[in-house]
Order: sequence, then C-alpha cells, then structure tokens
Amino acid sequence: MTFEGTFDGTVVLVTGGSRGIGRAVVERFAAAGATVVVQYRTQGAAAKEVLAGLPAGDHLALQADVADPDQVRTLVQDVVDRLGRIDVLVNNAGIYERHPVLGTSYAEWQESWRRTIETNLVGPANLVHEVVPHMVAAGGGRIVNVTSRGAFRGEPEHTAYGASKAGLNSLSQSLARELAPHGIYVTAVAPGFVETDMANDYLNGPDGEAVRAQSPLLRAATPDEIARVVVFMATPGAESTTGAIVDVNGASYLRT
Ligand code: NAP
Repeated sequence: MTFEGTFDGTVVLVTGGSRGIGRAVVERFAAAGATVVVQYRTQGAAAKEVLAGLPAGDHLALQADVADPDQVRTLVQDVVDRLGRIDVLVNNAGIYERHPVLGTSYAEWQESWRRTIETNLVGPANLVHEVVPHMVAAGGGRIVNVTSRGAFRGEPEHTAYGASKAGLNSLSQSLARELAPHGIYVTAVAPGFVETDMANDYLNGPDGEAVRAQSPLLRAATPDEIARVVVFMATPGAESTTGAIVDVNGASYLRT
C-alpha cells in the first residue's frame, strides 16, 4: 500500500525526521502526497538531505529541541505561519540513554532521567498542547506517537526510557478519549529493535545475533516497516484505531 494521493493537501509534522524511523515516515508521507515538515535537533545537513530527496512540494526542514518548551511553541507557530495548518503530528523524536542503577552516580541518574522524560514524554505533550488548537480550528487531525516495546517488556539499564514510553502510551490513550469529539484521532506505534543509529550498538555489537534472535524473524525491523504502520494509522478511514497501541516488534514480545 502506497496511499498515493491519500495525503494531498495535508500538512504533516514529523519530529526527529532527519534520521532513522522519522526519515522513513517523512518519505512515506511525502510519497502519499503530504507536505511534510522535517524537524531535527542537531543534524541539519541530514535533514536537508532528506528534504532534497522528497517529491516536489512545500516541504520544510526546521530545527528545534523538543525538550525545550519555548522551542516547541516557536516550531508550531512557524509551521502554521508558513504552511497554514498541521493535520498530522508524528511524535517520533526520542533518546535512549543507558543508566544501570548500579554503576550510575546519583547525579548522572538525575540528569539522564530528566533528559529522557523531557525529550520522550514532556516534549510530545507540549507539542500536543500547541498543535491541537490548530487541528480543532481545521476540523480535526491525527496524532501518532512512536513508543516502544520496552514500555511493556521492561527496559533494563534504560529505565527512564521504558518509563517515558509507558507514559507516552498512556498519554496517547487519554488523548484518544479526550479529543475524539473534536475529530482528532490518537494512536501509538510500539516498535521492537529497528535498524537505526539508536539501535546500532546493540545490533552490531557482540550480542547482535542474540538481539536479532529475540524475534522469530531473526532480524530487526527496517525503518520503513515502522513508517508504513505510522502512515496507516493517520489514514482517513482508520478513525476507529484511535486509542490503539500497535506492536511492530516481529513477535519478539507478545502482550496478552
Ligand atoms: P535515531 O536514529 O537515534 O534518531 C533520533 C531522531 O530524534 C533524530 O532525528 C534526532 O534529531 C531526533 N531527536 C533526538 N532528540 C531530540 C530532541 N531533543 N529534539 C528534537 N529532535 C530530537 O532514532 P530512531 O531509532 O529513528 O528512533 C525514533 C523513535 O523510535 C524514537 O522515539 C525511539 O525511541 C523509537 N524506537 C526506536 C527503536 C529502535 O530500535 N531504533 C525501537 C523502539 C522505539 P538529530 O538527527 O538532529 O539528532
């Protein structure tokens, strides 16, 4: 399914669109006709390269730190000023920091928890706060949050990450109930390991084979496999998926 033309005239804001899963999401939405905003934090050159590869359109690459509430507000206003609307918000940007309880100083522990929660949970919440009034004014919208298998399975040595993604799942479900009367549908997509920079050390490290063997597919997902699901969740006609958290983890962890 390419959804060609499905998103004609639609403006999609993808956080963390410069690399990995976000890049694949940007490319899938643009191929389906959307005007896409590629938000990035530090890698401007990568974001511009993504932009250059998209089909012709008014696509933008914009810098912002989603962990900074003022930058989130400026980002959203900038998109609305330049493109007039935001129909789909994909909260994809995230960080994955290691901080084993034993072996991390108390000061490092505080810092890593603060960074992770501010980036992976409070950032998306702030984006929602700023974007939703524009969606309401336009008659509706879609929000897709990229969470993680770790929210359910547990994320040893990355405890803040697991907690942030569990929080983002909960945020998605609360918003699904709160915003449906406004025509705004909210879902979450929860990947297992995906072939990106974030997972590189694990997939290509000494335990890479064991990590891949967590799935009976004996491999990690590609970014495009995640992107296809994200795009589907935002597709007109998929409204009744609101509140869903979709596992895309190659059966590496099966929730009951
Ligand atoms: P990635 O390759 O490390 O890319 C992270 C992206 O997020 C980059 O575009 C980065 O921007 C952006 N970003 C990070 N911190 C930011 C901040 N404070 N403000 C704005 N942008 C920020 O990651 P990925 O693997 O594609 O992950 C995408 C999402 O999928 C994340 O939420 C992650 O938790 C989730 N996920 C990934 C996996 C996996 O195995 N890869 C598994 C489950 C869930 P710059 O390029 O400018 O640095």
